[in-house]
Amino acid sequence: MTKYIIVAGGVISGVGKGVSTASIGKILKEYGFSVTAIKIDPYINYDAGTLRPTEHGEVWVTDDGGEIDQDLGNYERFLEIDVPKKNNITTGQIYKTVIDRERKGEYLGKTVQFIPHIPDEVKRRIVDAGKGYDFALVEIGGTVGDYENVPFLFAMKSLERDIGKENILYVLVTYLLIPRHTEEMKTKPTQQAIRMLAESSGIFPDFILCRAPIALDEVRRKKIEVYANIKSDYIISEPDIDTIYRIPLDLEKEKIGEKILDKFGLLEKKKADFSKWEKLVNNIASPLHRIKVGIVGKYVDSGEFMLSDSYISVNQALIHAGANLDVKVEIEWVDAKKLEKDEFEVERLTRFNGIIIPGGFGSSGVEGKIKAIKFCRERNVPFLGLCYGMQLALVEFARNVCGLDGANTSEVEEDTKYPVIDILDEQKEVLRNHDYGASMRLGSFAAILDENSIVYNLYNKRLEEDAQKILNLKGSFRLGILNSEKAVLERHRHRYEVNPVFVDVFQDNGMRFSGWHIMTNGLKLMEFIELPSHKYFVATQAHPEFKSSLENPAPLFFGFVKACLE
Ligand code: GLN
Repeated sequence: MTKYIIVAGGVISGVGKGVSTASIGKILKEYGFSVTAIKIDPYINYDAGTLRPTEHGEVWVTDDGGEIDQDLGNYERFLEIDVPKKNNITTGQIYKTVIDRERKGEYLGKTVQFIPHIPDEVKRRIVDAGKGYDFALVEIGGTVGDYENVPFLFAMKSLERDIGKENILYVLVTYLLIPRHTEEMKTKPTQQAIRMLAESSGIFPDFILCRAPIALDEVRRKKIEVYANIKSDYIISEPDIDTIYRIPLDLEKEKIGEKILDKFGLLEKKKADFSKWEKLVNNIASPLHRIKVGIVGKYVDSGEFMLSDSYISVNQALIHAGANLDVKVEIEWVDAKKLEKDEFEVERLTRFNGIIIPGGFGSSGVEGKIKAIKFCRERNVPFLGLCYGMQLALVEFARNVCGLDGANTSEVEEDTKYPVIDILDEQKEVLRNHDYGASMRLGSFAAILDENSIVYNLYNKRLEEDAQKILNLKGSFRLGILNSEKAVLERHRHRYEVNPVFVDVFQDNGMRFSGWHIMTNGLKLMEFIELPSHKYFVATQAHPEFKSSLENPAPLFFGFVKACLE
C-alpha cells in the first residue's frame, strides 16, 4: 500500500516547500523506496501553459506533453524521476472534471455539491498518481489559512479516514521570523499556523520543518513542543544554506528519514549512500574553477528575482553541469533588446566565456539575439542554443553564411523571402490529430543521432538510458519512425520547425544537422545542429534543461560548460 506524505506550508509563501518535499523524497529513495511526488496548485488555471513567465516563472514540460508548474521541476531534479502531467493537480482541473461529469448526467440526478464531490475528485487523482509507489509525496500549494487550499486539506483528511492514519502523515513547513528590532527568533506565527491547520481541516502535523535564516535552538524547539504539543524529535530545523541541494543532507542529519520510516513502522530497504551527492554539493559550495556565462533573453526586464525564475531550468542545468565539472558558473542575464541598437553592448559580450540563447516566443529582442549568435560564431565563443536559440542560430547562418539575405522565421516575419524556420502544413494536420496541445509540439520526442557528431558523443551515456524508455514507448507517435538507429528522448515546446526546403543549403555551407526526428508521416524534423570546426557551437530544437539533474547533468550543458572552461 502506498504511504502518503502530505506537505503544507505555514506563515509565509515561498518558504521552500517544493525543495523540502523533493528532499524528503530523495532521502526515502536513498533508503531503497520508490517515490513519486504530486503538486497541488490551488489556482483556477487548468495548467501552467498560459501563465506568464515573468509572473509565475517558467512553464515546466513533462514527457507526456504536460505544461505544468515549474515547482515540479524540483522533483525531477532531486529524484531523477519523470513526473507525468497528472501529478500537477489544479483547482481548475478538479472543477472542470466535476462539471463535465455533471453535464454528462453521470451523477444520476443527484445534487452536485462541494462535499463530497470536490474532495472525492481530489482523492481520486491523488490515489491514481500514487498507485504503484512505496511513497507518494503530496505538496499542497499556498499557505495554511488561504481560502483556496482548504478543499485540498479537507480532502487529505478524508483520505486519512479512507486509508487509515498509519498510511499517511503530515509535514508542515513553516518559517520562523527574526524581526530586526528584536533579533530574536519568533515562534508565534508557527504556533498559529499549526492551530489554523487543525481548525480548518482537523489536521495535526506529524512533523514541523522549521525554515529560518539560522538553525533552531533548543529553547525554541522546546517552545514549539510545549505550545504546539509536538514532541521536539519531530521538530526539524532547516536553516538557510548555500545551495538547495544541501537540504537532503541537512535533513538527513536531523534523521528525518529514519523518523518517517519509524512513524510508518517501516525499515530501510538499503543503506543510504549520499557520498556522490555530497561531493557534488561540495563542488557547488567551493568550486575549483569559475566561468562567466551570458544568457541573452527576453524576459529580463522584470527585476532581478523574476528573471532567473523565468529560466529556472536553464539556471539549474548550468549548476548541475558545473557541479560535475567542479566549476562555478556565474550567470549574467543580458537583455536582448539592448544588443539590438548598441554595437558597444555587442562588443562587451567578450566578458563571457560562453553564451546561451534560451527558448522564447515572438519578435521582441530577436535581432539582439541574432547579433549575439553571430558574435559567438565569428569569434569562436562557446554557444548553446535552446529551441528558439537553435532557430535563430539558423536564421543568422542563413543570412550571413548562406547568403540568404533577409532570411527569417515566419514567427517574426510571416511573408519573409526565405522562411528558414516555418510552421509546416503537414505538421499542423498531425498535431491536430494527436490532440496534444493546441498547435505546439509538446513533450518527449525521439531524435536519431548522427554517430559522427559532437552531440552523439555528448549523449553517450544517455543513449543507453533512453534505450529502455524507447522500448517502453513502442508504437507511440513520440518515437516516430525509428528502426535500429541510436536515439535519445528530449522534451519539446514549440510551434515552428526548421524548414526542410533549406536543409541542403545549410549543409552545403557547413552547418551539420546532428540529430533528427522522423514523424510517422515520414516528415523529417531537425533536432540538433552543430558547427564542426567551432570550439562549441551546438543547438537543439528541444529543451534539454528539462531533463537535467544534479547527478545526471544534461549532456549539451555539460559539453557547453566544459568548452567554456577550456
Ligand atoms: N517560438 C518558437 C516556436 O514556437 C520557439 C519556442 C521555444 O523556444 N520554446 O517554435
